[in-house]
Amino acid sequence: MTDVSATTTLPSRAAGGTTMRALTLTGDRKIELLEVPAPPAPGPGEVQIAVKAIGLNHLDVWGWRGMAFAKRKLPLVVGVEAAAEIADVGPGVTSFKPGDRVVGYGGLTCGTCKACREGRDNLCENVAGVMGFHVDGFARDLINMPARLVIPVPPGVSLRDAACAPIAFATVQHMLFDNAKLEPGETILVQAGGSGIGTTAIKMAKAIGCTVITTVGDDSKAEKAKALGADHVINYRTERFEGVVRKLTQKRGVDVVFEHVGPETFNGSLLCLKRGGRLVTCGSTSGQSTTINLFQLYLQQYRIFGSFGASIRNVRESLDKMAAGLTPVIDTEVKLAEVERGLARLESRQVFGKIIVTF
Ligand SMILES: [Zn+2]
Repeated sequence: MTDVSATTTLPSRAAGGTTMRALTLTGDRKIELLEVPAPPAPGPGEVQIAVKAIGLNHLDVWGWRGMAFAKRKLPLVVGVEAAAEIADVGPGVTSFKPGDRVVGYGGLTCGTCKACREGRDNLCENVAGVMGFHVDGFARDLINMPARLVIPVPPGVSLRDAACAPIAFATVQHMLFDNAKLEPGETILVQAGGSGIGTTAIKMAKAIGCTVITTVGDDSKAEKAKALGADHVINYRTERFEGVVRKLTQKRGVDVVFEHVGPETFNGSLLCLKRGGRLVTCGSTSGQSTTINLFQLYLQQYRIFGSFGASIRNVRESLDKMAAGLTPVIDTEVKLAEVERGLARLESRQVFGKIIVTF
């Protein structure tokens, strides 16, 4: 492990023979700030980005503590979503210039398959992996990336906020609007409203005029969720949320449930849906499996959507929302060398909003 205090300056932009910092997963629950060779000048169609901020996600927690089914090799540079500045552009790239502010799309899509051509990037048939989870990620000073996977940040949006666009915001945008097709005036239950995506879902649903019911694990989070605009907040540790939701909706149930907790809440979430209601889920942070009542599923005509990641269009839509004032809730900012403190905080569910790692 290098001396962190001695490695706080960026390498020169030319980067020939220089080194840079990289937060590297070297074993289960072991991330080191290493000095590694800086990349060469960007190739044709590539840009070189200088990373400024990383948003932490549950995907980082899984990567950190180890995940049996993940196909990957250590050491691995962590970081699944980031904001950066363009440091250099390769031959043929005209869409960016040095100094432009950008975010990276972390799914290494092929760009040519049917799904990619149709803009359904997260369904790419030849994806080479998710950066920061399967292949080296964003938590390093400089990265060469295909220019087609880099998205400009609009004026007025900070890089700290923009770092939440590629995964936290875009995932929610995709879940609510592409999958669940949430409409103005509908009622939605947002599970775990204090999480990074939960806070985002509350704000996005309120912004189009929905009634938002949310669950949290303690009373201090309840106050914060109310302040974000949630109409009803349920402390799931002291009340059964299924019963409260039924009461709040006069036994009708909600139009949409935003799930990501998984086995701990999934069946309760289904019970909260009205007939024909939609449940959209990602994450499943409390475990992998549950059983569901198939009679209930078809008799109530539920529609259940699995959702993973987002399209590049969703990232652009997210940045546009930020530019219009729908900004992320930031729980904590930590320095590069403190990333494990941030991950432990995320794992312990103490957060309200996003944890950002700054360079
Ligand atoms: Zn593809």
